[in-house]
Amino acid sequence: MANVSYEEYQKQQAARQAANGGNQKPVHFMNEWLAKDGDFVVVRFPYTSPADIQFESVHNVVGVFPGDKFGKSVRCTGTDDCPLCNSKDEAVQKRKLKFYAKFVVYNPTSTGAELCATVWERPSGFADIDLKNLMVEYGDLSNYLFKIVRTGKGTDTRYNIIPVNMASPVYSQPVYTTKDFTCLEGIDATKILSKSIEQYNQALNPTDNTTQHSTVEDFKVPESKEVDDALGLPPQQTQNVVTSQPTTHTEVQQPTQTVNTSGPTRYKF
Ligand SMILES: [Zn+2]
Repeated sequence: MANVSYEEYQKQQAARQAANGGNQKPVHFMNEWLAKDGDFVVVRFPYTSPADIQFESVHNVVGVFPGDKFGKSVRCTGTDDCPLCNSKDEAVQKRKLKFYAKFVVYNPTSTGAELCATVWERPSGFADIDLKNLMVEYGDLSNYLFKIVRTGKGTDTRYNIIPVNMASPVYSQPVYTTKDFTCLEGIDATKILSKSIEQYNQALNPTDNTTQHSTVEDFKVPESKEVDDALGLPPQQTQNVVTSQPTTHTEVQQPTQTVNTSGPTRYKF
């Protein structure tokens, strides 16, 4: 497969959007927010308990999808006839558990912040260790703001999750304290960030009309790894470190918080 230039990538996205009636919901990728060392975003996770955390078993395939220089995750069928479980290539045969996170990013504006739906493919440890440790400390994560900070670059990149002091002048503003997950509705992070076996088969045999229905998933949003590749960025690294800050714990529990009484939608993966 030929690599896709960024210009070509944008053309493809425009075509997909047009094909989808222009109703595409804006979805952002973490590499847009955390492009370099020191970048950070303030986020709100929709996860209320460990029951909201679900993993996906995927195979990593390289050289099948356009712009997948670093590989693309293809979801295991979970059945004995999964073609990738039966691959002769040991690297492809190997399954990995991934967590497909979605959350709200607060993009600062002159009047406050714009709430942006964001998806992120993470190794399972992000949820199994980092998010669950935060749940032990804070319980329902949807009541809090966290800062995700990127440090380092290339293979030395790591992401720290730090609780935000919600009593501070900036983060005690209603735009931050009001719990609003509207922008996440209908967004399936797993389907956005990984491919189905049908899409894999079609990528192998693009002229095979029998599998074309699977491209419906393609119309939703761009693929993050295509963006990575088009921008010449290194693959995101897998290390996550939770920075424990017990002193901020009491601060974030102050009753300055405004909680949307309609309650959060529970997002399952
Ligand atoms: Zn499999």
